[in-house]
Amino acid sequence: MERILIIEDEEKIARFVELELEYEGYQVEKAFEGREGLALAQAHPFDLILLDIMLPGLNGLEVLRRIRQFSTVPVILLTARDTVVDKVTGLDGGADEYITKPFAIEELLARIRAALRKRHGAASPAAILEVGGLRLNPVRRECWVGAQPVELTKREFDLCQFLIENKNRVMSREVLLERIWGYDFAGETNVVDVYIRYLRAKLEEPFGLKLIHTVRGVGYIIKDE
Ligand code: CA
Repeated sequence: MERILIIEDEEKIARFVELELEYEGYQVEKAFEGREGLALAQAHPFDLILLDIMLPGLNGLEVLRRIRQFSTVPVILLTARDTVVDKVTGLDGGADEYITKPFAIEELLARIRAALRKRHGAASPAAILEVGGLRLNPVRRECWVGAQPVELTKREFDLCQFLIENKNRVMSREVLLERIWGYDFAGETNVVDVYIRYLRAKLEEPFGLKLIHTVRGVGYIIKDE
């Protein structure tokens, strides 16, 4: 059973969320104060933490900062404040998600499920990425076109995975370079073109497929025919 910690000083909200989560089958602990929440997070392994920002004593962003010193547990920030500064600070501080009060419980549940899936998603069948007959298993680093396994190098696989994770969206050369090759390659965007050619040679040409499209002057998009 997955364990969720709620750190929220508004007891009505905390109890309401607790009931909903228990109804969904989660095991729930609550803390109404930052330090108490932090102590619980240190004492027990949780699968996910819901963390209010406006807390008495130790505020949520500080609690998050301290949690991140010992844990990578997914954290969803809850807050009444919807300012850009809070969002950026929260996400920079290592929050996985952000939800603004008042929220619909269905939306919160959906985000919790998504965060938990991301956390353990590795083993689930949903982890297979697919576009137009091309399939990747990122956990086993396997690639197929139809029923045919295809060998990809690490960079080719990473590039292909990132494109499929962002399918139907144009990815610029700069973004691809930064995400797949890192900052060391800054400026050398033609390495992206080279690897796109490798992918086309392995995944498209032998199968008569057209999945990766060039967006002139920008970058690439992978999409279903
Ligand atoms: Ca609060």
